[in-house]
Amino acid sequence: MGKTCKPVIVVHGGAGTWNPVPSQPALKSVKEAADAGFNTLRSGGTAVGAVVDAAALLEDTGAFNAGCGSALNIEKRVEMEASVMDGETLQAGAAGLLSSIRNPVRLARVIMEKTDHVFVVGKGAEELAQIFNLERRKPATAVQIERYEAQLKSLLADEWYLLRLAALVKAHPEVFQLETVGAVALDGDGNVAAETSTGGFPLKLAGRIGDSPSIGCGTYADNQSGACSASGVGEIAIRLVLAKTVCNYIENGKTPQEAVEKAVALVNTRISSTYNAIGLISIDVHGRMGAAHNSPNLCWACMTADHKEPVASSKAKFLK
Ligand code: ASP
Repeated sequence: MGKTCKPVIVVHGGAGTWNPVPSQPALKSVKEAADAGFNTLRSGGTAVGAVVDAAALLEDTGAFNAGCGSALNIEKRVEMEASVMDGETLQAGAAGLLSSIRNPVRLARVIMEKTDHVFVVGKGAEELAQIFNLERRKPATAVQIERYEAQLKSLLADEWYLLRLAALVKAHPEVFQLETVGAVALDGDGNVAAETSTGGFPLKLAGRIGDSPSIGCGTYADNQSGACSASGVGEIAIRLVLAKTVCNYIENGKTPQEAVEKAVALVNTRISSTYNAIGLISIDVHGRMGAAHNSPNLCWACMTADHKEPVASSKAKFLK
């Protein structure tokens, strides 16, 4: 098939606080990821290939809550998760409860392309990774453990009870940063794709699955509408089926920017009483893009054929 569309990629490095100093390397990384994904598109690669390449780069930096930078759960263990979706075929793949995979997003792609399933977790997922020779990750780094200790200290200071996590996050946003990574892309054939990868909410219960690997919640792509990747409090994105909701808005005539703003407004009105941080990026089949958040910041970057180089920012449309 001839290439007829101008490719576009949008990536995010999470909805969070992103104070000016830590955000500098993160902004550089999202730019590099947008560049890597766009190179895949420019050389004729698919939207799926582009979002996976962009996410794998971010997983490897250690600067985000994904891949080798993943937050630790309450048992001081890594439990990573990721998903990917192809808007042309509506095929999707997701993996969760991963402890030893270097790039969870690559395993999500294997599940999408090499199995009959959509969502595989834990031991079975790790075994699949072995069969397909996916690289292994190193044990938790000193930075991850240091972050965990700081989070735990903060939690304990408020008498240690997990139900208070929301209040703690609100009181100490700098400690509980949410820095999941995600990408959406449109390729030269006019197909869209989305992916999201995370270590999950810091200090989450062991076995907890969030929105990032849940198709429709953290990730969705459909050529009839567009693609979306979410970041923020996973339990909110799950309850509002947020990524699919954004795609529904696009299908019903909204631009991607209007769609993500409407979805963040939905979060603000329906989930107003708790800590409700959310950040969303989206794209449609015409190459239009959108980004919005109610968190203080959203670390993101985009690249199109009209740009000389990717444009990165720690702010998009802020709605509170
Ligand atoms: N959405 C992710 C989760 O709840 C966290 C994040 O976006 O950083 O697992």
